[in-house]
Amino acid sequence: MTPNIDPIIHIDEELCTGCRRCAAVCPVDAIIGEAGTPQKIDAHRCVVCGQCVQTCAAYAAESEPALTSRAEKLRQRGQLSSVREPLFAAYSTGHALELKEALADPKRYKVVQCAPVIRVSLAEEFGLPFGTLTPGKMAAALRLLNFDRVYDTNFGADVTIMEEGSELIGRVMSGERLPMFTSCCPAWVKHAETAAPHVLDHLSSCKSPMQMVGALVKTYSAELDGVAPADILSVAVMPCTCKKFEAGRDEMNVDGLREVDMVITTRELAQLIKDKGIDFMNLPDEPFDSPLGKYSGAGTIFGATGGVMEAAIRTGYELVTHESIPNLQLDFIRGDEGIRTATVQIGDLELKVAIVAGLKYVSSILEQVSDGTCPYHFIEVMACPEGCVSGGGQPKLLLETQRKAAYQARKSSIYRHDSNQKVRKSHENPAIIKLYKDFLGEPLGHTSHHLLHTKFFSRSVKGELK
Ligand code: SF4
Ligand code: SF4
Repeated sequence: MTPNIDPIIHIDEELCTGCRRCAAVCPVDAIIGEAGTPQKIDAHRCVVCGQCVQTCAAYAAESEPALTSRAEKLRQRGQLSSVREPLFAAYSTGHALELKEALADPKRYKVVQCAPVIRVSLAEEFGLPFGTLTPGKMAAALRLLNFDRVYDTNFGADVTIMEEGSELIGRVMSGERLPMFTSCCPAWVKHAETAAPHVLDHLSSCKSPMQMVGALVKTYSAELDGVAPADILSVAVMPCTCKKFEAGRDEMNVDGLREVDMVITTRELAQLIKDKGIDFMNLPDEPFDSPLGKYSGAGTIFGATGGVMEAAIRTGYELVTHESIPNLQLDFIRGDEGIRTATVQIGDLELKVAIVAGLKYVSSILEQVSDGTCPYHFIEVMACPEGCVSGGGQPKLLLETQRKAAYQARKSSIYRHDSNQKVRKSHENPAIIKLYKDFLGEPLGHTSHHLLHTKFFSRSVKGELK
């Protein structure tokens, strides 16, 4: 089964100048065209990361009569008519307009989840400094937008650690299908399916935290709230344009219902808040709802490069050794764009790990897997340069220096948020303990397999890519 999903990333031929700044940041050479002429995207090769959308600086002059009107372009792009920012040549399909209409429907039970980094980047859209942490204002704004339940993808990150950590321990003990790659970045998964199907067996079978929360929203939480799963509108706010693609994959359904019905980006959430006239800066802090809004510090660091690895080691260490991990802050795993490697002593095991921050760096590791020389047990791959902090749906910054400063501030803020949590390990999150006790049973058990794990499929086209 190969999912068939419409393109999400587009280049507006009327606006594109052919500067090819986008081609310079595309990690998979998916942008085609001569300099000085409008560019096209090879949708097969494109991993929907949105880095071209972040970089493109060409926009419509409102007074240019030869162009399609701004109102029409907004409509074509799925954006709200109230959007004031320029319309750039490279853009992603929007869902704010569709969501605004769905939120007004009294018959739907509207549930939202927010990725770890939304709380450290949303405030930038309202003029606050880079990396300002605003989980409480975000929860309050989502309730004012008419959501019935405000949940958190961080909870799904904690579930991912329980499942993926157990899977890793099993594979290391049996020596099978190593190295194991993380599977929570959908752009990396699409790249593996397209350009490296020989490694698909090495990917963790875990769905991403977003899809896990979606599956639990339509089962566990529906049961707790006494709501029919079919009446639920499950929405996710993500820093990532590829999450729109992931949510639409055929296999991402629970008993025939979509796990996540709609995905909007950080920028689209800011547009909805402005559209409704909400005074974001002066909102009082509100908590997330229980139980899918309770998270550990480990869940929150998924937003930065190396975060999945660090969270997994915090839990994996304790599951294997039955002792407390001596140091919770694993600085050797933290960093910027590029590849980092380390050996971690876990009891008698020397666990060799690698972190790939930026999809363009993954090719050497894929070659090592092909020729059987890859020395690592566990590899985290994030397609965007510094993980989700630099995602394609994040607030747009046109200057390279601004971008670097923003990524740094967002990462620091995420790590600060982690160190301020009372619970910093996924397996110690009381809501996670209760989820397994009352509903899932055990990690990798029957219910987990049904709801939280998936299969990946080759998208390779013979002769086109190796
Ligand atoms: S899409 Fe934007 S960045 Fe890419 S070539 Fe066109 S104008 Fe330049
Ligand atoms: S979305 Fe990412 S992969 Fe696709 S064309 Fe843009 S930069 Fe390249």
